[in-house]
Amino acid sequence: MGHKTYYQYYTNVNYLSCADCLAWHGKISTDPTRFPNRRDSCERKILALEHKDIKYSREKARRMRAAAKAELTRRELLSDAREALGNDNEEAIDLLAKAAKIDVYISEIERLTRENEEIFQSDETLRQRLCKLFAQSYSDKFGWPRYELLPEPMRFLREQAGIARIKQLLG
Ligand SMILES: [Zn+2]
Repeated sequence: MGHKTYYQYYTNVNYLSCADCLAWHGKISTDPTRFPNRRDSCERKILALEHKDIKYSREKARRMRAAAKAELTRRELLSDAREALGNDNEEAIDLLAKAAKIDVYISEIERLTRENEEIFQSDETLRQRLCKLFAQSYSDKFGWPRYELLPEPMRFLREQAGIARIKQLLG
């Protein structure tokens, strides 16, 4: 009698991952045909789990579920912030700060500045505050465990390139 094989769904959690993949990220099943298998552009892996590792995998699954949930929260905060910008900038900054604690992506800052060009052009204080907020959050992000795998010079270059772009957009 062999043990059942367990499978775990993995997607790369970032601003591009679709809601369906986020909903499945970290979930463990004996039936991998239940996993999303559409040809979306999300990175996906289906990991076959050894029975002896199942306890550890369940713990890891909890962290993965939390990361996927945090990304959904981040998107909501960002979306609320985009609505608040121009109406209640203090509220917008507060929401953006909360979102940036979860993660911050250059493409999204580019989009935000594109959409609010007029507001940012007429309000230098707002621009400077957001510039500082995003540059700090972007720098912090490279101290997170997931980036510790990057070789130090590469991590430094990426961090510097991102901060330079933020300053170009908002500085
Ligand atoms: Zn997907």
